[in-house]
Amino acid sequence: MDGTVRARFAPSPTGFLHLGGARTSLFNWAFARNNKGTFILRIEDTDMARSTDESVDVILDSLKWLGFTWDEGPGAGGDCGPYFQSERRGIYKEYLQKLLDKGHAYYCFCTPEELAERREKTLAEGNNWRYDRHCLRLSPEEVQGLLTPGKKAVLRFRIPEGTTTFIDMLRGDISFHNTELDDFVILKSDGMPTYNFACVVDDALMHITHVIRGDDHISNTPRQVLLYRALDFCVPEFAHIPMILGHDKTRLSKRHGSPSVTYYRDKGYLPEAMVNYLARLSWASGEEEKEIFSREEILDRFSLDQVTKHSAVFDLDKLNWMNSLYIRQASNAYLAEILIQILTQEGLKKVEEITPEFRSYCEQVVSVMKERMKYVALIVEEARYFFDDTYAFDPAVFEKILLEEGVSQRLKLCRDEFHKLPAFTMEATEDVVRKLSESLNVKATKLIHPLRVAVSGVKVGPGLFELLVVLGKERVLSRIDRALQAIQGKK
Ligand code: GLU
Repeated sequence: MDGTVRARFAPSPTGFLHLGGARTSLFNWAFARNNKGTFILRIEDTDMARSTDESVDVILDSLKWLGFTWDEGPGAGGDCGPYFQSERRGIYKEYLQKLLDKGHAYYCFCTPEELAERREKTLAEGNNWRYDRHCLRLSPEEVQGLLTPGKKAVLRFRIPEGTTTFIDMLRGDISFHNTELDDFVILKSDGMPTYNFACVVDDALMHITHVIRGDDHISNTPRQVLLYRALDFCVPEFAHIPMILGHDKTRLSKRHGSPSVTYYRDKGYLPEAMVNYLARLSWASGEEEKEIFSREEILDRFSLDQVTKHSAVFDLDKLNWMNSLYIRQASNAYLAEILIQILTQEGLKKVEEITPEFRSYCEQVVSVMKERMKYVALIVEEARYFFDDTYAFDPAVFEKILLEEGVSQRLKLCRDEFHKLPAFTMEATEDVVRKLSESLNVKATKLIHPLRVAVSGVKVGPGLFELLVVLGKERVLSRIDRALQAIQGKK
């Protein structure tokens, strides 16, 4: 293929960016890049009631986070703009007129109530309902008479007779009898075009060569092909990619974990891992067993031939596994930056409190937590004590470990020895614990467990001596004091 490929992602801004949308975007982006083509972003905001600016922002932010940079579209410019459909009404008008002039479109004045009544009657008679072309029978004079400002009208596309066939790059020929398609609305009564019409005009005028989208659009494609032909546009290539389903094979929704990209960003998943995971849903590079693909490898190898037709199943465990691999390989500075964003978002830290010292503290925290993290927010969920001196003691653990006979005395001894240390290192703190346990003639765990609970409130976490060093001497001493007070209060 030469460098003329033009692929696009065309989200409707009616909510967050769904994982399915993210993967559609990824495939378009990777396909365009792999073919040295152009990747275009178009915002399909013709549904005025449901489209919002917030949703546009969320979608753009999500795409930027994933790193799917677009060559044309909002913020990037391009010769085929505007890239918001709501700003292209003048363009649609011209093509609607063309369809009217050529007899491919006609006005319809049927009200929703009238349509519902006729539909019900047809169904009650045991027939399938399609628009009954009531308004196609109106004479031009009658139409003129009805086209008054107060009267609501839509434009319908007149479906020709025959069969419509298109080639799907993944599935081969797909045919529809035109009797399955009714004269669908192309211009709504609010003056906005419908999706099928606007999409065709834009894909044609933006010189889109490949339309890659979810297979939930397969039934729209014959309608669009008929519109291309009626408008004398070249028909692009189509590839309908399979849906992402939940483990129970139903459409991915909240029940399966969150379907929104921003949810994963805010949880501290790494975009590299997310892109890798999404790529592997329905795409195989042909290299058996290879699961880990860098962004460059995906761009280098991506081809539509290797996309499967079967729906993909979203597997959170696999995403978590992949994300932990990426986390282990990531630099501490990078992970700390993500952690800082989470802390500020959660209100645990104010932006002005992010000093270089705090940043370096965060780097130490991620370095000791790295091996145990599925996602960065797990630190806030399970190891909040790193950032909160008022951490609670797990009641069961407190009872079992801190209220045990002799614990106060052991903790006090540790505290005093720690206090004397000139350098609060892993070796030095471990040495204190080992020596004390020998002199007290108890197992080291009789000190290790209470110390951990004293300084963190819980009984699991990173290695104790790493934990102590990250917290630092001052904090460890005051936390032991706090635990001693708590023990005192319970006795
Ligand atoms: N706005 C449509 C959607 O979000 C785009 C479909 C297409 O790619 O043609 O589903």
